[in-house]
Amino acid sequence: MPLLLEHRLTALLRALSIRHRLIASFVLLSLLPLLVSGYISYAESSGEIERRTRLFATEVVKQVAKNVQLQMLEVETASEALVLSDGVQAALARYAVDDAAEKGRARAELTKILLDSYGSFEDVSQKYFLDKDNRVLDPQVLGQLGGALEQFAAAAPPRRGRPHWGALELWGGQKSIVMLRQVYFKSNNRLAGSLFLGVRPLRFAGIFDNVQLGEGSDIFILDGRDGSAVVQARERPAGAPPAAGLLAELGASQRRGQASGFAAYEDLAADGRGRASYRAAYAQIPRTSWYVVSTLPNDSLLAQAQSVRDKILLIGLVCFVGALALAYLIARSISAPLEKLAALMRATEGGNYGLRMDYTGRDELAQLARKFNEMAGNIGQAHEQLESRVAARTRELELANEKLATLSMTDALTGIANRRRFDAVLEAELHRAGRCGQPLALLMIDVDHFKSYNDFYGHQDGDACLLRVARLLHGHARRAGDLAARYGGEEFVMLAADTDLETAAALAEGIRLALEQAGLPHAESPIGRVSVSIGVAVLLPDERQSGEMFIRMADKAMYRAKQQGRNQVQLAGGRRIAAA
Ligand code: GH3
Ligand code: MG
Ligand code: MG
Repeated sequence: MPLLLEHRLTALLRALSIRHRLIASFVLLSLLPLLVSGYISYAESSGEIERRTRLFATEVVKQVAKNVQLQMLEVETASEALVLSDGVQAALARYAVDDAAEKGRARAELTKILLDSYGSFEDVSQKYFLDKDNRVLDPQVLGQLGGALEQFAAAAPPRRGRPHWGALELWGGQKSIVMLRQVYFKSNNRLAGSLFLGVRPLRFAGIFDNVQLGEGSDIFILDGRDGSAVVQARERPAGAPPAAGLLAELGASQRRGQASGFAAYEDLAADGRGRASYRAAYAQIPRTSWYVVSTLPNDSLLAQAQSVRDKILLIGLVCFVGALALAYLIARSISAPLEKLAALMRATEGGNYGLRMDYTGRDELAQLARKFNEMAGNIGQAHEQLESRVAARTRELELANEKLATLSMTDALTGIANRRRFDAVLEAELHRAGRCGQPLALLMIDVDHFKSYNDFYGHQDGDACLLRVARLLHGHARRAGDLAARYGGEEFVMLAADTDLETAAALAEGIRLALEQAGLPHAESPIGRVSVSIGVAVLLPDERQSGEMFIRMADKAMYRAKQQGRNQVQLAGGRRIAAA
């Protein structure tokens, strides 16, 4: 299977040019690790940021919750001291007496006590005593406000020890944090009434002033029961509703009995367009349904990690461009010489052996170029050698052919032209004679009594005799148009161009005489010497004869010479040339 995969991959790669393969490998090698490591570091850094934020923000809201609780405790402690003071106890006791005048004095006294205690406290904006039936004792508090106070007191859970805290809209749509403390008589421990204090949210909001959680973050106190904002940082728009997702998370955490936590939720984006995801750390203020909540948009939380990611992307892009350029250069440095080499090879294959690869360097391509140059040189040399060898062989063959031609035209024994040559020349001369209007002479020469010569002297001497006769004939063929040939056995012929009967007769007689005078001994001949009988035929320009007929004419004349005693010349047509 891996082998098959490798095959497939190799086939796939081979479909690409080397240049593209190299570029792809470069880009993959340079970019993949960068992107992978970038992604990992982004994921890790964003995870780490979230983890740290979670720890930090949770710790912050816990601390803020504690601070708020301390502030509340401060108010509680001061109020406790007040309600246990003799002045308050006495005034409330007088109020309990069923006497309208007394009640009035008690009310005035309680109002004065409250003014004396809280008048200089800016944070405490509202301060009232309520009787045990939750009626406001201050005659100046009327209508709506009084109703709201009484309602709040009636709804408050009965609490003996610690005061009840809540958020109440006292006027102007702004919420105040309010505390309701039940007052008991020290003497009999019976319920005497309640102390109601309205605390400005600013007292708590001030705690947030020094809390810095980062860009876009917000911190506020939320009532987990209804989601209403109890205290919010000053810059936060009043009445901005907390996200449903966050409230659900708080509700769930309350059910789990969890005092603090960290949640992710969705809400309107800060710019009011679309939705955004947020992280929130929350901590419950003990003994209340209130939560200190710190929110942070996810975007600004991850801004740092995103800037790391953006840097990685930028570096990746720069590396990509750089890698691409480098890959292109490197790929070209390999593929261009290869392409050039391939072109040179094609040219060399086409027969141009003089081309050389111009490549300097010490790499494998340089080796390849050197080897190619050597090879091209060798091929060129081999080609030249082959050419000259072929030329030499051709010349040899031509010479051999010439020799063969000469041999095929030469008589082996005598070295003069043979019958084949004679036939060809006769044919040509007949044509030429006809064309040029010249006479052509033919001599038929036969050695006399040669059989007996052979018999007497032996075949070898016979051969030597034939050679002598041939040489003699050859010696008489002096003109360019003369040809002496062995016709067969001891018969010879002589062809003489542009020769009339007279001249031919003289030539024949010259031959006959020359042989006679050569005096080659022939013991079996009546004249004791080797002699020849010659028949002469001449074709005049106006005569048309075939070669065959021409030979027969000379032959006839020659036989006549035999019949009439040998060692003589006879002319075709009957005339004998007498010996001189
Ligand atoms: P004639 O005078 O009538 O011509 O008589 P002849 O004996 O010459 O005639 P014939 O034709 O009967 O004999 C020719 C002889 O020539 C026969 C043969 O042995 C001989 N001969 C033919 N060719 C050669 C050859 O190449 N070498 C030798 N040594 N003898 C040859
Ligand atoms: Mg003969
Ligand atoms: Mg003969």
